[in-house]
Amino acid sequence: MTADGIGRKGAASEISHAQRMMHERLSRPGHAYDTILLALNEHSIVAVTDAGGRITYVNDRFCDVSQFPREELIGRTHRVVNSGHHPPAFFDDLWGTITTGRVWQSEICNRARDGSEYWLDTTIIPLIGPDGAPTNYVALRTEETQRHAAEAAVRRLAYIDPVTGLDNRGALLRSIEEITADVDAPPGFSVFCTLSVDQLSIVNDAFGFDAGDRLLLDAGRRLRILLDESVRVGRIGSNTFGVLATGLGADLDAAERLVERTVDEVLEALIEAQELESGVAVGAGVSLGHVLWVPRQPAEPAADLSRAEEESSRFIVSSDANDIVKCAEIARKRAKQSRGQRRAQRFEQRMLDEVHDRMLLVSELRGGIARGELRLYAQPIVDAERRVIGKEALLRWHHGSRGVVGPDEFIPVAEQTGLIVQIGDWVLDEACRVLADWAHDEAARELTLSVNLSERQLQVSDFAERVHETISRHGVAPGRLHLELTESVLHSDLTRTVELLERLRDDGVHASLDDFGTGYSSLSYLRRLPVQQLKIDRSFVSSIVGEPQGAAVAETIVRLARIFGLQVVGEGVETEEQFAHLRALGVDAFQGYLFGRPEPIERRAISPLAP
Ligand code: C2E
Ligand code: CA
Ligand code: CA
Repeated sequence: MTADGIGRKGAASEISHAQRMMHERLSRPGHAYDTILLALNEHSIVAVTDAGGRITYVNDRFCDVSQFPREELIGRTHRVVNSGHHPPAFFDDLWGTITTGRVWQSEICNRARDGSEYWLDTTIIPLIGPDGAPTNYVALRTEETQRHAAEAAVRRLAYIDPVTGLDNRGALLRSIEEITADVDAPPGFSVFCTLSVDQLSIVNDAFGFDAGDRLLLDAGRRLRILLDESVRVGRIGSNTFGVLATGLGADLDAAERLVERTVDEVLEALIEAQELESGVAVGAGVSLGHVLWVPRQPAEPAADLSRAEEESSRFIVSSDANDIVKCAEIARKRAKQSRGQRRAQRFEQRMLDEVHDRMLLVSELRGGIARGELRLYAQPIVDAERRVIGKEALLRWHHGSRGVVGPDEFIPVAEQTGLIVQIGDWVLDEACRVLADWAHDEAARELTLSVNLSERQLQVSDFAERVHETISRHGVAPGRLHLELTESVLHSDLTRTVELLERLRDDGVHASLDDFGTGYSSLSYLRRLPVQQLKIDRSFVSSIVGEPQGAAVAETIVRLARIFGLQVVGEGVETEEQFAHLRALGVDAFQGYLFGRPEPIERRAISPLAP
């Protein structure tokens, strides 16, 4: 418990006039002294000590509350009632105040003879001797136990998760802070682990929030049963638990082994299926991230930290509770992305570096967008006679210092952050502007322009309207615009995607299924999807010559396309052999370096995106 945790901590106050009066009287031996004590006895718990802190007097109420007989108190120090609740700094402050002649006031937690704790609002008044130094200290206390019981109840409420009855995020953070602040704790590793119940939203959707709550409650119980009592378990997010274990010892290998074993047990305990409704059981599929850490020593220079982290990314040195939780969360998100059965991941320093790199890239990208550094390139698409029939618009980022950055480097972060929606709007607008230009150009009038779409763009509720509006604004013939989507968009919400594509088709816009064969598309998808074109992925085209499997896949795709009446484009055609082979299979159109690389659509600077 930190000093903050014990309630209002009184700063030393100057001696008031009344206190000085009392001070004076108490200093006088004899009659007046006794009279004052008599009066105080009525209202307070009183103890008087000598300059060394040894008890010379206690009143009856002190004996009652502490449960010690007077003879066991006289001659001893207050250590006899020390609860161990306050850190040494607390008492340093107390002594520093009263030995310099000032009154000290705060709440103190003491321990009674039977071990129970009680809180006292305490004022300690130094009695100054003729030489100016304190000769005695008078401690006056009033009972605060009841108020504290009430406060503790309030605090408990603030730190408890109502669904599981476990600690909440605030409580776990506080526990971490306590560990890192505990200067007396033996040195050694602690571990923080976060784990998410990944089907929670599905269960909520399918069976309602009650069922979701039951899933969480059950997961929390399993964790609580499994883990030692000294391990803190809490719920730190809607579907996320936190587990905090400390005192893992100073041997890194041993600590890691302990963590690995516990992680296995946790995964096993949670993966076991739970019956939700009659007959419906779900296993709480979990992703788990964990981080080993040691508190940063106050005196430790930052250089040591980086050295420790460089030498070993197996643990971190930190006293920042939020940092520690963040590291575990980063590891958990990694675990969630992995496809394996055992979705657990320990935190490694490089993950943080990658997160920082991504954040930097995102902020640079925002700036780049505002400065108009994004450009559209286009790559020709040809027919079997090598006549250009259309182009595919491909993004490039003309970065101030890095040169031309390809989309594979920035589209993924743009997708993660949602920036892709803004970028996609710009690409669409720009593509329509290009098509409108082409309409005035004899040589380009008939060309189509294909635009790549990200899943996130399709999720925007008015996406079809946006496309419609953009086409109309530029006066473009809708059939000239092709939209390319990958199979990944089919996983989110097939019914919605189908509706969306139908609306676009009704507007006259064409759609292509890009990178075909690399995802999980099945025949059933193809039958339902209103697309006009399949693009055979480059990986099959590159293996079409000399590799029977590649040739077989290409052939199957072409046959499939015929059945559904779809046009087929072969992508990434680099050699004459590949071209000949695809042509022989009956592929309709071709794209690849053999016919042309992506080139800037035009040289002039493109207007910046609206901020
Ligand atoms: P994609 O849609 O499959 O685009 C084709 C990629 O293959 C392009 O890479 C193109 O330059 C490359 N390519 C074309 N022919 C050949 C060839 O013969 N050999 C080889 N090795 N590569 C060839 P690029 O331009 O780097 O684009 C990569 C991906 O970035 C695109 O793959 C697309 O998924 C995404 N992308 C590009 N522009 C946009 C955009 O405006 N919006 C979105 N959402 N994604 C975009
Ligand atoms: Ca494409
Ligand atoms: Ca492609």
